[in-house]
Amino acid sequence: MADKKRILITGGAGFLGSHLCDRFMAEGYHVIAMDNLVTGDLKNIEHLFGKENFEFHHHDVSKFVFVPGKLDYILHFASPASPIDYLKIPIQTLKVGSLGTHNLLGLARVKNARVLIASTSEVYGDPEVHPQVEEYYGNVNPVGPRGCYDEAKRFQEAITMAYHTHHGLETRIIRIFNTYGPRMRLNDGRVLPAFLSQALRGENLTVFGDGSQTRAFCYVDDLVEGIYRLLLSDYPLPVNIGNPDEITIKEFGEEIARLTGVEFKPDYRPLPTNDPMKRRPDITKAKEILGWEPKVDRAEGLRRTLEYFKENVPGVVNGQVDNTPRTF
Ligand code: NAD
Ligand code: UDP
Repeated sequence: MADKKRILITGGAGFLGSHLCDRFMAEGYHVIAMDNLVTGDLKNIEHLFGKENFEFHHHDVSKFVFVPGKLDYILHFASPASPIDYLKIPIQTLKVGSLGTHNLLGLARVKNARVLIASTSEVYGDPEVHPQVEEYYGNVNPVGPRGCYDEAKRFQEAITMAYHTHHGLETRIIRIFNTYGPRMRLNDGRVLPAFLSQALRGENLTVFGDGSQTRAFCYVDDLVEGIYRLLLSDYPLPVNIGNPDEITIKEFGEEIARLTGVEFKPDYRPLPTNDPMKRRPDITKAKEILGWEPKVDRAEGLRRTLEYFKENVPGVVNGQVDNTPRTF
């Protein structure tokens, strides 16, 4: 239908991007997912292939982006997101946050589309203000190992604001705090996939540092609802979306051990350089501007995520470690 809204979702084969494809398909949009599959997986969107309102474009958005036809919205989610991913490909990470964002802002101008960019709580670095409010400028080490990601995202915010103020482009900026759920890559190195996979395989949990650093974990469905509301709002400044329920990493490990029915046996490893010691979103703006707050608590979110991991961790059969000897 000619009046169907058309949305481009970059990073559409990734964890968050694939959930966004599902949401916008369900809302009746024509969805164009674009991804170079550097960390994503077509398995995340294979159920959408063949549907009339879905297209997939295999493309690196750091190169010139072309999409035929009209576009109403662009969600720019392409970027490695896990520390082990962006440490492996720091230059591609800097390029997708800078050149990639520039390409998509240019495309948005030509198409007269509204753009929402996926920024991150990492723009606050190792924060000295707690919980983090949007007005806080952050404490980032540009030349540390995480600098490639954090500074790419800070540049992304800056160029997005410049297109908004200088060209009058309709832009939205979301600062996403740690989000989890089904379709996270099992070996992406982030704490939840690491702990769940280790617990299911009967291994000790790799706790970095003494585990006293904190994070606050948001279930993916809540995040997607926040993104949907922000995109359709008229608010151009950054908005934090996350679940403020803060927990230490050690307590998180204990929680995962209880959930999976194993004894908590930490395997302490050195704390990575510049690993933020605490993180928790102040979500006052999201509540006031979007009427948004998280609905899924960690107990429920972890139960749902565990189901996915039980089906997908190699060597785990019906939720149990499969010790049957194999011949290859
Ligand atoms: P992900 O790695 O699962 O997904 C990222 C996707 O982007 C992948 O499919 C990857 O192949 C694709 N991609 C990377 N570079 C690309 C390029 N140059 N061209 C085209 N595609 C490219 O990660 P995710 O957790 O789904 O994160 C998605 C976005 O959300 C990222 O921008 C990330 O910075 C942001 N974010 C995520 C979280 C979180 O907790 N998951 C927190 C803050 C911000
Ligand atoms: N972490 C850990 N063990 C792991 C992976 C991560 O203790 O196997 C810690 C990590 O040092 C950090 C927290 O868990 O303090 C969250 O790490 P993650 O990579 O998930 O996200 P980010 O640091 O980007 O918030």
